[in-house]
Amino acid sequence: MLVEVALPVPVPRTFTYSADRELEPGTRVRVPFGSRRLIGWVVGPSAGAPPPKLAGVERVLEEVPSVSAELLRLCGWIADYYLAPLGQVLRTALPARLTDPRRTSPPGLSRRVLRLTRELASLQERDALFSRSPRQRECYELLESLGGESEAAHLTRQAGFAPTVLRGLVEKGVAELRDEPVSRDPFAALAAEPPQPHTPTAAQAAALAALTGALGGGDRRPFLLRGVTGSGKTLVYIELLRAVLARGEGAIVLVPEIALTPQTVSRFRSHFGPTVAVLHSALSDGERYDAWRAVQRGERRVVIGARSAVFAPVPRLGAIVLDEEHESTYKQYDAEPRYHAREVAIVRAGLSNAVCLLGSATPSLESWHNAAAGKFRLLELPERVEGRALPPVRVVDLRAARAVAEEERKPLPVLSPELVAAVQDRLERREQSILLLNRRGYSTFVQCRACGTVRQCERCNVSMTFHRGRRRVVCHYCFREEPPPVTCGECGSADLSFRGVGTEQVERAVGDAFPEARVARMDVDTTSGKWSHHRILERVARGEVDILLGTQMIAKGLDYPRVTLVGVVNADVAMHLPDFRASERTFQLLTQVAGRAGRGALGGEVIIQTALPGHYAIHSALAHDYIGFAARELEERREPAYPPHVRLANVLLTGTDQDAVIDGIERVADWLRAAAGRAGDPVEVVGPAPAPIDRIRERWRWHLLLRSAAAGPLGRMCAALQREGPVRPGARDPRLVIDRDPVTLL
Ligand code: ADP
Ligand code: ZN
Ligand code: ZN
Repeated sequence: MLVEVALPVPVPRTFTYSADRELEPGTRVRVPFGSRRLIGWVVGPSAGAPPPKLAGVERVLEEVPSVSAELLRLCGWIADYYLAPLGQVLRTALPARLTDPRRTSPPGLSRRVLRLTRELASLQERDALFSRSPRQRECYELLESLGGESEAAHLTRQAGFAPTVLRGLVEKGVAELRDEPVSRDPFAALAAEPPQPHTPTAAQAAALAALTGALGGGDRRPFLLRGVTGSGKTLVYIELLRAVLARGEGAIVLVPEIALTPQTVSRFRSHFGPTVAVLHSALSDGERYDAWRAVQRGERRVVIGARSAVFAPVPRLGAIVLDEEHESTYKQYDAEPRYHAREVAIVRAGLSNAVCLLGSATPSLESWHNAAAGKFRLLELPERVEGRALPPVRVVDLRAARAVAEEERKPLPVLSPELVAAVQDRLERREQSILLLNRRGYSTFVQCRACGTVRQCERCNVSMTFHRGRRRVVCHYCFREEPPPVTCGECGSADLSFRGVGTEQVERAVGDAFPEARVARMDVDTTSGKWSHHRILERVARGEVDILLGTQMIAKGLDYPRVTLVGVVNADVAMHLPDFRASERTFQLLTQVAGRAGRGALGGEVIIQTALPGHYAIHSALAHDYIGFAARELEERREPAYPPHVRLANVLLTGTDQDAVIDGIERVADWLRAAAGRAGDPVEVVGPAPAPIDRIRERWRWHLLLRSAAAGPLGRMCAALQREGPVRPGARDPRLVIDRDPVTLL
């Protein structure tokens, strides 16, 4: 008999093989493919005629299919909607052990780690200890910004420190070198918070009644829970899960990034104990596989994880919760399938007759629009718990500050006097402050004063960022690094200016202004970064940090009662990006970070430094006015039309030869226009044009947008382009990428 098999190859079709017995859909098989052997999944019996050269299934890898019928349907939907090969979707949905058995992380591997053992809290102490060893100081400060430890190999190879520098720190007694096993579960050591049995507020109780009333019911519309920061959304999630578990069912909780939300995870753990499986990036392939199997067997019924946990094989799924549903990390934008976990969650909940709950203080405009149209059911928590106020927000107008600085012929200070005074005040009261700047590095670009040329990455058309701690300029797109330039590459002048403020510079300014304060910096600066963030947050929780500064990652769900001040160093960073979501992102970020202040009985305040105090995104954030912002932004997106009023697909062509890319995208545009005309489908072709960043990793990038009032015609058009268009799907150079519902157009 003949079966259709989905294979993880970049061609959007399945392949026919012969089998000597009936195979259930979802069964893993090994098949020959050209000169290779691949693992694929049986999707069903083959309907058409056998191909001329028919090969047979070489081996059936399991008796019971690893992919359930439900999961197979879900992946089929993703493959169709996001125009991705089903085999690639399945590979994304399953643990690596099942898709690539050769890929194993060797057990018992160890790594050498340099860890700080003594804190040098003040600048004076540092000056004294490192007076004759500036490299040791840099290394010390880099370690500090990495959360207190780093792999030694990282420090020597990527950051360029000689081994003697590392040993110097050990000899000074401020650090130790140790060998550690590679696979450690950062959550294993995490102190579980005792469960907090609060009595739900009236608003929480009303939301819960609606949610539990919907369990097992027929109305499959998702719920949107809009709850202001500090309104107690987590309690609603937890009580919903309790009801799900009581019915003998399981649940999935999605969070934007698990390393950044240790509190949320530990709250779920404290309530549900060992039935919680946390799927996080630090798991080895083997651990991930074990967790996956435990979930599949029903031994663990609550799964918490980031985006890909939406595929967890929970057998009787009662609910899917998506926290911070507006976060763009839910969209896989850089690899196939380019799926959005929110859409997948909604579809999956529909297939399983489960409740889908999307929560946020600042819902995406798509979800807000759907709630207004009655497609989602809206639940609201309009107030903070225990009658706490949302923190008052003050503006420091950077235009005025700039004028003063110019008059006094001084550079604009990174921290305004108002912000400095407010932080000082917190230090005296032994409270904590959070400072946000959504830009990494020290100086975000290096410009020649003589000819104006900005130093760009050789492989990408973006400016290189100066990282002072590592003494490197770095490309944030391809991670290429080089020593900081001493002369202009264009005219040879040595008069270079390092401009644009990044988090490193804020750290320095904070160090200068408050030499005695205990400061921690958190951004995604290095490979070993991720789990150190987790450790930094623990230090903040224990009160060992006075000032936490960092990028947007500090804006996520932190709930620390002693944080009474939030300062935004520059609110305008994202505002000028060529992206129709720039205002929405700015509003969300400001609202979220402001929401970290005053969550406890101590109260709090927010100070925002901006040159655009009149802009509605900033203005609405000052007033904590989501509804006003959303109404205005929905108007702004009518003309030209952008989501949620229309659906978009970004059609991108990349390649090493610029002429071939331009020629290719023009042929794609012509083809699409002709097809739209023939089909009479109301799909508009906008472009082509160079992408805002028109070269990354030596590949030129051109794109066009497809715009349509409805998803159906747009999907049909994209599918036709893949099937019959002028660029073969799967070709590498130039390469065609179709991104439906894109979250970024860069
Ligand atoms: P958010 O809506 O920002 O996610 P959280 O769920 O983190 O808010 O809740 C904020 C704080 O309020 C937490 O410390 C939580 O324990 C507390 N909390 C939640 N519900 C109640 C309640 N009904 N009564 C008192 N405190 C509550
Ligand atoms: Zn120059
Ligand atoms: Zn680059």
